[in-house]
Amino acid sequence: MIIVLKKNATASEIASAESNVRSLGYEPHTIRGAVRTIVAAVGDESANASLEALSVHPFVDRIIPIQKRYKLISRESGANPLVVNVCDHQIGNGNFHIIGGPCAIESYEQMKASGDGALAGGAHFVRGGAFKPRTSPYDFQGMGSEGLDILARFRKEAGCPIVSEIVSEGDIDAMLPMVDVFQIGTRNALNYSLLQAVADTGKAILLKRGMSSTIEEWLLAAEYIVKQGNPNVILCERGIRTFETATRNTLDLGALAVAKQETNLPVFVDPSHAAGRRDIIPALAKAAVAAGADGLIIEVHQHPEQALSDSAQQLTPEDFKELVDDIRPFIKVAGKSLA
Ligand code: PEP
Ligand code: MN
Repeated sequence: MIIVLKKNATASEIASAESNVRSLGYEPHTIRGAVRTIVAAVGDESANASLEALSVHPFVDRIIPIQKRYKLISRESGANPLVVNVCDHQIGNGNFHIIGGPCAIESYEQMKASGDGALAGGAHFVRGGAFKPRTSPYDFQGMGSEGLDILARFRKEAGCPIVSEIVSEGDIDAMLPMVDVFQIGTRNALNYSLLQAVADTGKAILLKRGMSSTIEEWLLAAEYIVKQGNPNVILCERGIRTFETATRNTLDLGALAVAKQETNLPVFVDPSHAAGRRDIIPALAKAAVAAGADGLIIEVHQHPEQALSDSAQQLTPEDFKELVDDIRPFIKVAGKSLA
């Protein structure tokens, strides 16, 4: 942290700033300018008290943080690019993965047809929600535990890793046997007790960005999981709330680029929830690959027109396969290989 003192701070005020810095566990390095003096506080911010308290002193103008607030996931931490292992897949580090499958589990037949369709089209993981966090309480809320039974049966038959959203800590034990990657959705992206409880399972977590979260809030949410002792976090940009109405959300590829640059975590993109309409999903998918994504999560439904949730944005297995085939050259140009 840098403590910028008010203009013309007196010698005794500078000495007071230095002693305060020392008493909080840091070493002060003072730079005296013609008008202003700044005190650089050197020390480990994760081990020492916060210096923000110094702003109460009348001689302090402002305090500028130097270290990132997310420390464990930061590239600054010096850790190598992190790989998240799920079953026999290594996510990140140049491997490109695709998650496909329906928004929600609606019946065994629907899950089977949609999941198999996604696998045939090139998905490595199959998604399907048993618990759906819907905006309206009158909309389909998911099949709950019956959906989990379907997911377990599908997983056993297909032999592929499963991604499914968790909305409540109370569902962890029921979901553990059939879920390989816990998805934390946009509505729970800042639910810290849920993040910590799911982190405690040690399983991989696909962490969507909150629809109104800043990039820093999103990354700090990931930091909660890693701080809890679980480094298996996959970030997922899924579009944010803006004034735009032509798309359901605005896909923020800048956030993808920043997250790739700032952290060691693999970053996926969800073009389905960003677009909210199937026609532009392939374009967003290509853009995401080009901008450095490590993977995609895309909704695939055997009969999108019959889907009980997100019908406008689900792709048929045929359209999904076409998309996967179309993005292959982009993956190569981006320097990654399709797992
Ligand atoms: C979903 O993946 O079906 C979902 C609800 O996503 P999000 O949390 O991004 O809206
Ligand atoms: Mn959905």
